[in-house]
Amino acid sequence: MAHRLLLGPGPSNVPARVLTALAQPLLGHLDPAFLAIVEEVQERLRGLFGTRNPLTIPLSATGSGGMEACFVNLVEPGDPVVVGVAGVFGERMCDVAARLGARVARVESEPGTVLDPGAMADAIARTRPALVAFVHAETSTGACQPVQAIASAARDAGALVVLDCVTSLGGLRVALDAWGVDAAYSATQKCLSTPPGLAPASFGPRALERLAARRAPVPSWYFDLNLLGGYFGERRVYHHTAPVGAIAGLAEALRLIDEEGMPARALRHREAAERLVAGLGRLGFEPLVAQEYRLPMLTSVRLPARVQAAGEAALRRQLLERHEIEIGGGLGKLAGRIWRIGLMGENARPAVVDRLLEALGVVLGGAGGS
Ligand SMILES: *Cc1c(COP(=O)(O)O)cnc(C)c1O
Repeated sequence: MAHRLLLGPGPSNVPARVLTALAQPLLGHLDPAFLAIVEEVQERLRGLFGTRNPLTIPLSATGSGGMEACFVNLVEPGDPVVVGVAGVFGERMCDVAARLGARVARVESEPGTVLDPGAMADAIARTRPALVAFVHAETSTGACQPVQAIASAARDAGALVVLDCVTSLGGLRVALDAWGVDAAYSATQKCLSTPPGLAPASFGPRALERLAARRAPVPSWYFDLNLLGGYFGERRVYHHTAPVGAIAGLAEALRLIDEEGMPARALRHREAAERLVAGLGRLGFEPLVAQEYRLPMLTSVRLPARVQAAGEAALRRQLLERHEIEIGGGLGKLAGRIWRIGLMGENARPAVVDRLLEALGVVLGGAGGS
């Protein structure tokens, strides 16, 4: 199999220690030795999410499944819901909520900008929503949303707060309890540098109260937190077969993160991104997002004329085939207009940045010199 350097919007490369953990002989999903690993994963995830929520668990799903799990448990038909749409993943939240019969009020921001907390507060005052949802790190644009201001406006109005932490967790500080976030989800393949397949998620007391007060049963058997709580709680009873190997891999990834410490890890992401932006600037690329809102783990850049002339997709193809490096193109409204370069988890390192910049220099040299 080809050995790629994965610098797109996810998945990212998996460190050797995690690959080794993934290759260990399986345990049964009710084996006390495995349940100890589940408990360890839950505790380490609490640390990373910045929460004491007992129901902090690795859902058997990708990030989108984490999103679905939040809405399916916390929304009922007819509920007013406010969704902040700053890109493709906010858009996806609207789709998920609408399919459940929610009355969705969208608050949009231009691609590459962030949600306006004032506009969110206005929509909240106008619609009195049951729930307010938005994305922390919008991977389709590279912009970081102002979580605290939006979350407090939502809580002041009595709404639950749901936060997408798919790309932020493991690369940026996340503090669910301090921010007043009631439910959040992530995914393993971005800054946790583990293969896709698990969605770490956390549900706080106000979310569980809402769940208990539902008028109708949760319309998904698989994601019903009442049932999942049987396995991820004191009783440890079978609901579905836990992805044993994937959870063992996640445990090792979380140990690595705790050994490094989240402040050092966040700084490493920040410094790698600064090195990348400076190097890309020398090659003629301008960042899409204003500096104060730029994500460290996902840098989006506008495409200079010579890149557009050569065909941006053809250049990315050359990077992949001749240099073994994957980067991302634009998504949604930004398709064909930007590149997205991920420096996620394991890959947020100066040597990785330098390897990419060197390869880009070669590829662009062939596209008309610099
Ligand atoms: C990748 C991503 C998702 C979707 O995750 P999948 O694992 O692809 O299902 C959701 N939200 C954000 C912000 C993402 O970056």
